[in-house]
Amino acid sequence: MGEKKTKRVKTIKVDVDKCNGCRACEVICSAFHAQPKYSSNNPGRARIRVIRHPLKDIYVPVYAGEYTPAECMGRDRYVIDGKEYEECAFCRASCPSRSIFKEPDSGLPLRCDMCESDPPLPEPMCVQWCLNDALIYEEREEDVEEEERPGEMEAGIEALADKYGLEKIMEALSRMAVKS
Ligand code: SF4
Ligand code: SF4
Repeated sequence: MGEKKTKRVKTIKVDVDKCNGCRACEVICSAFHAQPKYSSNNPGRARIRVIRHPLKDIYVPVYAGEYTPAECMGRDRYVIDGKEYEECAFCRASCPSRSIFKEPDSGLPLRCDMCESDPPLPEPMCVQWCLNDALIYEEREEDVEEEERPGEMEAGIEALADKYGLEKIMEALSRMAVKS
């Protein structure tokens, strides 16, 4: 059992009815996370993706969650208010069965980090840029058990190890260490 701590929980409430699929959230997320910041924007690198089917009036922003090395054994498909959503539409995982929530060049997993930065932002960038108020930022304090969550770097290394094998990754790191 972990130790109890008070944690600031950050949430973004998504009001799907207000989203018009403009994709400003994707653009600003990718620009904010570009290296250096704002040097480029590519919605393919965003940590939020908007499912868009204009003919069916479907616009659903979905945030990138955890990396998973294995895909599910089945698929889910939702019908809400008579609208049928594509398979896995609401799933947040960076998973082998689809291309979203992965860096387009490296294939490394992407995860929403709530725009962590120093100094902290008053609100995440996607919330600030959503002019339709479809994304609503909220904070609260909660007593939680302290748990170790893998950071972005750990998730990236895990994904590489799944792809190439841990031994090859270790060899590559050793070669890089010798060169530096
Ligand atoms: S910025 Fe807002 S309205 Fe535009 S796609 Fe994103 S969530 Fe939807
Ligand atoms: S909170 Fe920040 S990191 Fe997460 S999707 Fe929005 S802009 Fe991207």
